Amino acid sequence: MLTRSIAILVSLLLASHFASAKAAEPVSDGHVHILSPELIKIWKGLGIPFSRSDEYYSDIDVIIQNTAVRRIDLISMAHVYSSQEFGGFKNERELVERENAYVAAARDKHPQKVRAFCSVDPLREYALAELGRCRTQLKMDGIKLHHNANQVYLTVPEHLEKVKKVFEFAAANKLPILMHFDNSHRRFGKPDIDLLIGSILGDVGPVELRIAHFGTSGGFSQRTRGFLNAFIEKLNTDPKLDKHKITFDISAVALDKDSEGIRKLTDDEFAVLARYIRRLGLSRIAFGTDYPLYTPKEYMDILRRRVKLTEREFNLMLKTK
Ligand SMILES: [Zn+2]
Repeated sequence: MLTRSIAILVSLLLASHFASAKAAEPVSDGHVHILSPELIKIWKGLGIPFSRSDEYYSDIDVIIQNTAVRRIDLISMAHVYSSQEFGGFKNERELVERENAYVAAARDKHPQKVRAFCSVDPLREYALAELGRCRTQLKMDGIKLHHNANQVYLTVPEHLEKVKKVFEFAAANKLPILMHFDNSHRRFGKPDIDLLIGSILGDVGPVELRIAHFGTSGGFSQRTRGFLNAFIEKLNTDPKLDKHKITFDISAVALDKDSEGIRKLTDDEFAVLARYIRRLGLSRIAFGTDYPLYTPKEYMDILRRRVKLTEREFNLMLKTK
């Protein structure tokens, strides 16, 4: 009897030892940016401050070292060249092509570790041609859309048509889409979700869609909650979504520092965020950092200490999706 109790005690001790030793680690980071030296130079020229040396943003070896995970999705920022912030370039298309090529070349240096996402303004007349070039010549692995930088409104029929073409391209070529959906309009939310599902996802073949930053532009505001409420309702009731793989990218949501005019979360907001994460379901959440905003290590630390997810929940979230 005594030996049996000792055996149980020993196995309990071992179990707790292994449980504490096995903290969840992210295998991949689904939202990592790289900027070409050319883009950094233009941005600096506009007075945008860069707090670190250029290599932190532009050198794939440094980025791989800093992110320190097995796989990263490297996201092009070529879409910014047509944003209002930049004020227009005569050679815009050339700059877009060069930026996407830079991201593809970074991937080519580490093909086992890196997937490259091609970015394009879906409203430009060259959008599909550039996506085609990204696919066939550059062999890129995914598509990035940024509805805020490019001021894309699904409520405008021509915009809707153009975005739909991108989704059709993604479905035909089996390319995942990372979409920054928020366009900063004060009424952005349910009407846009209804159009995305009713007029795009309902018609196109299966796509893998990752919605950046939980639907808005970073942070976790009332707007983000409104967006998630409307999307969760659709996920629970609309069979049009069943054929698609839809996940929510948590990058830049759990902010513990103010960033680009977006306020960090209060303790209460971190707690509400935890509730929303559980409502969405951990398997619908894609881990990403929006590097250079955070490294995976820094962001995991915030999710642990501030959002207070459990190790079991981490493991569900971090499972390769
Ligand atoms: Zn981003």
